[in-house]
Amino acid sequence: MEDKFDVIIVGGGIAGLSAAMTLARGNAKFLLIERGEFCGAKNVSGGVLWGNDLAKLVPKYWKEEGGYERFVNHRRLTFMDDQSAFSVDFKSAHFDAPPYTGVTVLRSVFDAWLAGKVQEAIESSEHPDESFLATDILVEEVLQENGKVIGIRAGEERFYADCVILAEGVNNLLTRQIGLEKAYVPVDHMAIGVKEVLKLDASRLQDRFQLTGRSGLTNEFVGACSEGVEGGGFLYTNSDSISLGLVLGLKDLKEKEKTPYDVLNTFKQHPAVAAMIHGAETVEYSAHAVSTGDIKALPSELYKDGVLIAGEAAHLLLNAGKAIQGMDFAMRSGILAAETAIEGKKAGDFSSSMLKNYRTALENSYVLKDMRSFQDAVHLLHQQEMFSAIPNMICDFGRQFFTISGEPTPKASKMMQASIKRHSSYWDLVKLGLKGAKSL
Ligand SMILES: Cc1cc2nc3c(=O)[nH]c(=O)nc-3n(C[C@H](O)[C@H](O)[C@H](O)COP(=O)(O)OP(=O)(O)OC[C@H]3O[C@@H](n4cnc5c(N)ncnc54)[C@H](O)[C@@H]3O)c2cc1C
Repeated sequence: MEDKFDVIIVGGGIAGLSAAMTLARGNAKFLLIERGEFCGAKNVSGGVLWGNDLAKLVPKYWKEEGGYERFVNHRRLTFMDDQSAFSVDFKSAHFDAPPYTGVTVLRSVFDAWLAGKVQEAIESSEHPDESFLATDILVEEVLQENGKVIGIRAGEERFYADCVILAEGVNNLLTRQIGLEKAYVPVDHMAIGVKEVLKLDASRLQDRFQLTGRSGLTNEFVGACSEGVEGGGFLYTNSDSISLGLVLGLKDLKEKEKTPYDVLNTFKQHPAVAAMIHGAETVEYSAHAVSTGDIKALPSELYKDGVLIAGEAAHLLLNAGKAIQGMDFAMRSGILAAETAIEGKKAGDFSSSMLKNYRTALENSYVLKDMRSFQDAVHLLHQQEMFSAIPNMICDFGRQFFTISGEPTPKASKMMQASIKRHSSYWDLVKLGLKGAKSL
């Protein structure tokens, strides 16, 4: 293995592998270093990979064996109180044709599969013996000379490159080491995700969720699922398993003195969820930090001389209520970082004045455009009413509306007035409604 590369990538998650695929196709010589035993070994997500960048990286990926679990054609958002669940449900045949709007993935399978595709791309490149995917190695230090990044150190070994792409994920110690982020990220910019994978025989899963072929369901939850803690729940269908979990604000969790696992257990026992996971066996449990998508958490810059930051290492993530978008943001930013490095190679220039093209490309892409447009929605989702008063009110209304009691039935408007009175106030609702209308 030669020790000077065009590019070194730290991290073999979605951002790192997307950068690697782009570099292999661009005939750059690179080294990707992943600390896990294999790509995906350490990674957690809900997880739905949204958007269509996967089709750019692996054309016609849907014809391949392995990789994704199911394509999403059925989406549901559920408001919960202790006993009830009121859902907005959308299913469309428009989502049946590839390239899909979203696919469910299990990261230990998906990342390993994508790494295999990168290896194939390396083998068909102009430098099949000069680019490498190296696993089970922890990068401990980013090497710098006169303020310019020149390589990395892993144990006693040093590797040098014209450009380093940091794709180390949310625990971005190296990004902090080179001064692009403060040593401590404020706790209100961080959440914790907990997740179980529950195995269920494929035919039972298909029947239970009315799935055909490789179609799948995503269900997001808000309200009692988080026991009033800022955050929400998710249930996604895989080939023969269910991913069930929660993303909870760290600050609120601490203030309410709850533990993520206890909240997850309560969520599992909710009647609506218990029925969906009945008979399924927990085969995996994981927990991982996750950014809240607050744009204030972005590092002070996403590049400096000889280095680019991609994916969640740069807190590129959006959770504006409709979906968590971390993997697609990681994919697009990894691709854009690698394209910038390829431009740098052509120009023989890896200074910050060249690498700032990465920032421009991200600003012009949906990643930073959407993070900016939907910031108000991100903040709205941090308001306490969203986790208790609003879901309670919706379920209260639902219970009245769907009850036939043998007594005279009030008009729906009267039922709604009563629910509002019990859980909130007109004034609060108008304020929230205006904010919601503006932010989404
Ligand atoms: C519970 C949960 C649910 C989520 N649900 C979704 C979802 O449904 N959809 C979605 O789009 N996003 C979701 N996300 C967010 C998403 O998982 C992340 O945004 C995404 O994985 C970020 O990709 P990445 O490549 O930047 O980082 P990661 O996937 O974290 O990859 C970073 C890689 O770098 C490696 N690494 C780190 N440090 C070093 C080092 N020093 N040396 C060598 N290797 C190193 C790690 O081992 C890892 O493989 C969820 C997250 C959580 C926790």
